[in-house]
Amino acid sequence: MTKLYLAIPCYNEEEVLWDSAEKLLDKYYDLMNERKITEDSKIVFIDDGSKDLTWSIIRELHRQNPIFQGIKLTRNRGHQNALLCGLMTLRSKADAVISIDADLQDDINVFDEMLEQYEAGCDVVYGVRSKRATDTFFKRFTAESFYKILNKMGAKVIFNHADFRLMSRRALEAFSLYRETNIFLRGMVPLIGYKSSVVKYERAERLAGESKYPLKKMLSLAWEGITSLSIQPIRMITWLGLIIFIISMVMIIYSLISFFVGSAVSGWASTLCSIWALGGLQLLAIGIIGEYIGKIYMETKRRPRFIIETYLGDEDE
Ligand code: UDP
Ligand code: MG
Repeated sequence: MTKLYLAIPCYNEEEVLWDSAEKLLDKYYDLMNERKITEDSKIVFIDDGSKDLTWSIIRELHRQNPIFQGIKLTRNRGHQNALLCGLMTLRSKADAVISIDADLQDDINVFDEMLEQYEAGCDVVYGVRSKRATDTFFKRFTAESFYKILNKMGAKVIFNHADFRLMSRRALEAFSLYRETNIFLRGMVPLIGYKSSVVKYERAERLAGESKYPLKKMLSLAWEGITSLSIQPIRMITWLGLIIFIISMVMIIYSLISFFVGSAVSGWASTLCSIWALGGLQLLAIGIIGEYIGKIYMETKRRPRFIIETYLGDEDE
């Protein structure tokens, strides 16, 4: 049996909270009856500085049934930070923590499968959407391109996985070693290692209320994802500088030839060559400086350089 905690970030979710809480409670009682989770498992809401009744609902839920717990942030810090707060606060209390959105768009019936995978020895179980039938074409297109671009940039994210996942206590402990402030959880979790697996589910519509992720927040999340996981954009500048510099070499040779053949207007060759060569050199120089900045950036994150999975030899483990 697993002591399971749920971490649920909530921002202005007064419209869905009662409903979600009831559904989660039913699910929890089922899981308890089937002896899959322990009686002291909890459902924890993290109030991300909501401006509506969210916190009073959480307080009321907690009063009615202590299986519900609440954490209140001083102000709105965004979904990723709220979730991180939940995971880090709960990591030492539970055997495993599942993170899920308050609107229950993610299927709570895959908890069972997540728990099975956990019992079978997986430390991270990713919830992956099998279809995006309920999303608009625009959302689907932007979201799927986002995963592809991220992977091209060298950040290994799980395709179609958002932040619905189970993490074991030791995976969370390992994760706490990542002390960076620019966080993009779904890209960072795979960095931990450990055995992981995937469960598929169909994502439903929001229960009520509207998305707290308008296009602006989505774009900023995407940008955060790329820039916090990868220094590939800097490398692209270096490459561009190199390519332009090589073109300028070709241009110099070409214009020298036209100069000596006498087919060029005077002044053309020298002007054009200096434009290309200087442009190329400048980009190249910026790229090289960028490479160092990228290194500094990665150093400042102070990420763990390794995480030990097992140490064979010590008998009293
Ligand atoms: N959320 C949050 N802080 C924010 C924005 C959103 O904690 O600043 C929470 C929100 O309450 C929900 C989850 O993040 O539980 C996902 O938000 P939403 O369902 O609106 O995103 P979508 O499903 O539309 O991508
Ligand atoms: Mg949602």
